[in-house]
Amino acid sequence: MIYDAIVVGSGPGGGIAAYSLATQGLKVALVEAGRRLIPGRDYGRDMPPLDLLAKRLTEGKGGGFDSAWDYREQDHFTPVGDRPAHGLVKALGGRSLCWAGHSLRFGPQDFEKWPISYGEVAPYYSRAERFMGVYGYKDGLSNLPDGEYLAPVPMRAGESLLRRGVSKLKKQGLAMDFIALRKAMVTSKHSSGRAICQYCGNCGGCPIDSKYTSANTPIPLALKTGNLTVFTNSTMIRILMGREANRVSGIEYESADGPIEKLEGKTLVLACSAIETARMLLAGNMANSSGQVGRNLTSHFGITVLGMFPELARRNRSDDAGTAYYHSLLTGLYWDKPNVNFEGTYQVQCGSGLPPQRLFYRAEKGFGAAFKQELLRKNVCHAGMNMQGSLLVSHRKYIDLDPARRDKHGTPFPRIHLHYEDSDLAMAQDCVNTCEEIIRAGKGSVLSSPGKVRNEDLVIDQNHWVGTTKMGADPKRSVVNTDSQSHDIPNLFIGDASVFPDYPEKNPTLTNIALSWRMAERLADKLRKKEI
Ligand SMILES: Cc1cc2nc3c(=O)[nH]c(=O)nc-3n(C[C@H](O)[C@H](O)[C@H](O)COP(=O)(O)OP(=O)(O)OC[C@H]3O[C@@H](n4cnc5c(N)ncnc54)[C@H](O)[C@@H]3O)c2cc1C
Ligand code: SF4
Repeated sequence: MIYDAIVVGSGPGGGIAAYSLATQGLKVALVEAGRRLIPGRDYGRDMPPLDLLAKRLTEGKGGGFDSAWDYREQDHFTPVGDRPAHGLVKALGGRSLCWAGHSLRFGPQDFEKWPISYGEVAPYYSRAERFMGVYGYKDGLSNLPDGEYLAPVPMRAGESLLRRGVSKLKKQGLAMDFIALRKAMVTSKHSSGRAICQYCGNCGGCPIDSKYTSANTPIPLALKTGNLTVFTNSTMIRILMGREANRVSGIEYESADGPIEKLEGKTLVLACSAIETARMLLAGNMANSSGQVGRNLTSHFGITVLGMFPELARRNRSDDAGTAYYHSLLTGLYWDKPNVNFEGTYQVQCGSGLPPQRLFYRAEKGFGAAFKQELLRKNVCHAGMNMQGSLLVSHRKYIDLDPARRDKHGTPFPRIHLHYEDSDLAMAQDCVNTCEEIIRAGKGSVLSSPGKVRNEDLVIDQNHWVGTTKMGADPKRSVVNTDSQSHDIPNLFIGDASVFPDYPEKNPTLTNIALSWRMAERLADKLRKKEI
């Protein structure tokens, strides 16, 4: 059989592409390296917290709760430079199984360096939010547009004291805002029929599938059309070219049973994640006449500051139930007036209190009753501020292939080159100073802070890589066009966040889903019109 489209990778990007293509009547093969994981059994097991902790420790796992993150790959890339990391979960749904669900639109300013505008993507944002089920308040911010939301979830007590600090600083003329987070979890009746959130806080492995994943919403709906065939435990090892030099004819993959098989397709959508998609293109030496595959690599990076608010000690801790730890966001920094010391900006995700199954503050020393009391007090009274800054794009950050290391199929591992620049350090320092100021203005004290930031304090976000197959109008300087279609190979499309040509401070996945949906519609349209 020749499929209309082969989609490789079933994370947020591949899942929505498969859904869109199948519901448009195309025959689709979805090829996924991992297996199907069952919520509540393979992750998110329901048992008393101490029993679960004991079981996890016996199984050689850390932490007190089950997350799909436990299934991440180990030793699958080569780090070069300043401690790069790379998250990869091979399972049906990819990292959507363990994502935190934070769903923020990029704003009109964020699209200024893109070849498409906010207005072109906005209808897909609306569609994605309705489809996924995203909760949130409408805050009316200029560069973090409101979406279409389910019932909101308020911030916790400690975060409201951070907001008190922000309000005070705003009165002094500083540009910033503090809002409750927007997340892809069902808080009121939703068309998907997914269960309403129980505020257990275990969102890294939602046991009841209230959180949106590729595995619980788009893939089952696509299967219902009868147009989708899912190949799990199937790793694409090679992209096959057709007789014409600029056409893909299919893929070779290692099937669940072991042998190497072929799939034929009229089109191919790569959605293997920003690192793996670029790796497969580099390994096949394809779609790269621009030399830009693997370049323009960027992510978010961070640093954490904690504040103490003793006035919170006597409240009812059961009020801290909610959706995971982070409930609110410091945003709106340097949108209108850039900082002269660094390029771009950052946001700060904030959490507080003692949500179920979470001890965020762990640095207490001691033992016995006094230790327990103090650990409890600090968790109840603290508020945490975690920076997400846009990493400066530079020629020192990129991926290429490791000539010395290959996987079992002979494909070279990707090398990730990360070198923080002065701009990155200056941004982190600004974030630390701002967070400390907010805590003090909110009548708290700083519980922990890096103070003067050093390179080794910076932590890369291993799950937010983007940019390695940049979108652009000029085939000499970009890899895909504005439809996420390869300039070089017209029947090859990219369905993940590799295509982002510029990266703001906001989380990537909602934009990844919106863009992949848009790409899939354009692909189907071109196929219908026989343009590819
Ligand atoms: C703990 C955690 C929290 C997060 N929180 C947020 C958040 O709140 N908001 C947000 O926006 N983002 C968040 N993210 C990031 C988000 O999950 C990723 O940006 C997103 O999953 C990337 O989507 P993707 O489709 O590109 O790739 P992935 O989700 O990585 O999926 C890629 C899939 O492709 C498969 N694959 C790869 N290579 C092959 C191959 N050769 N053959 C077959 N299959 C292959 C993989 O097995 C995988 O299933 C979080 C991630 C994690 C881990
Ligand atoms: S808080 Fe809600 S979304 Fe998160 S794991 Fe619990 S039920 Fe699922």
